[in-house]
Amino acid sequence: MSIWLRKAAAPLVAVIILSVPAVSSCVDRRETPPGGPANIILFIGDGMGIAHLTAARIACGKLHMERFEVAGLLTTWSSDELVTDSAASATAMATGVKTRNGSISVDPGGTPLRTVIELAEERGMRTGLVSLCSVTHATPAAFASHVADRDDNLEIARQMALGGVDVLIGGGLEYFLPATAGGSARTDTCDPMAALRERMAVVTSIDELRESGGKGPVAAFLAQNHPGPVGERDYTLAELTDIAVTALSSRGNGFFLMVEGSQIDWEAHDNNAGGVVLETVDFDRAVGAGLDFAEKNGRTLVIVAADHETGGFALLGGSLQRAEISSYDFSTEGHTASMVPLLAFGPNAEDFGGIHDNAWLGGKLISLIGFGK
Ligand SMILES: [Zn+2]
Repeated sequence: MSIWLRKAAAPLVAVIILSVPAVSSCVDRRETPPGGPANIILFIGDGMGIAHLTAARIACGKLHMERFEVAGLLTTWSSDELVTDSAASATAMATGVKTRNGSISVDPGGTPLRTVIELAEERGMRTGLVSLCSVTHATPAAFASHVADRDDNLEIARQMALGGVDVLIGGGLEYFLPATAGGSARTDTCDPMAALRERMAVVTSIDELRESGGKGPVAAFLAQNHPGPVGERDYTLAELTDIAVTALSSRGNGFFLMVEGSQIDWEAHDNNAGGVVLETVDFDRAVGAGLDFAEKNGRTLVIVAADHETGGFALLGGSLQRAEISSYDFSTEGHTASMVPLLAFGPNAEDFGGIHDNAWLGGKLISLIGFGK
């Protein structure tokens, strides 16, 4: 199956060949079991707007995201800007409170905000973060740290190491290594790696993660800073999701897991339509892995959201039969204020239909934590 991509008013610039297996048929709507969800998996497609989703749909013929039973839209603005950044939007989704662009789970005045992951830990649930960027980057950071400046990677790593997240998978090794270690980006005496090793297995390659993953708490650093794009990664986000879910569900006390498709945003910043499609398809397969678990488990709420739209991406022409986008355009190399998708499956999914704000989503997740125990 191939997808042809052509920027508007320009010659053909890219041909992307995708091998996309068929998506299984839609599942039946399930009755909400009494007590609400025991587990929550929140998928965040960074920068994933409606057009990004549509482009992946054209490429694949069918998406796992079409298996959801409830759909809605999210508004994404921050407390100080119509157009949000990932830090402010992730803060809204992690805490239920809007903040300034650049802030990580502190309010506009700088006061720390309790996150859904911290609440889940208080309730005795296991927690996990999976991303395709440094785990200290804005989206995962907002769930497990509190800093006024999203670029303060050293402090974010310190807080994450001392926190309670049970499964941490992504890039960012350089921020966790002590300054005395080769490849460290640290300039202080803090040793986040030692703090992590006190409470979990720590691995630095996908092969080690495959061996140790799923057996309990684990931190896996798959890159010094950010992992490469989809063509350079020797694992899929779906595989990382499966490992995280296995580890978190091995003890029956419920879990909260956030999985980020981090690089949809970066490809859209680059106005690279082919990259947007490939990263969105990789994200969609991870969502499929989460849905597969939720269908079997029966007490898992799966949510798909995005933090903002990136690129002002527009699809202007093509063919479904040929999986071809013959004309497209981007209106910006930055973010936009357009609404983004919100999908829900499982217990309490019906609560998520309609148009909501990203801070509403955070508040809703917090209200559901521990509800089903
Ligand atoms: Zn961005």
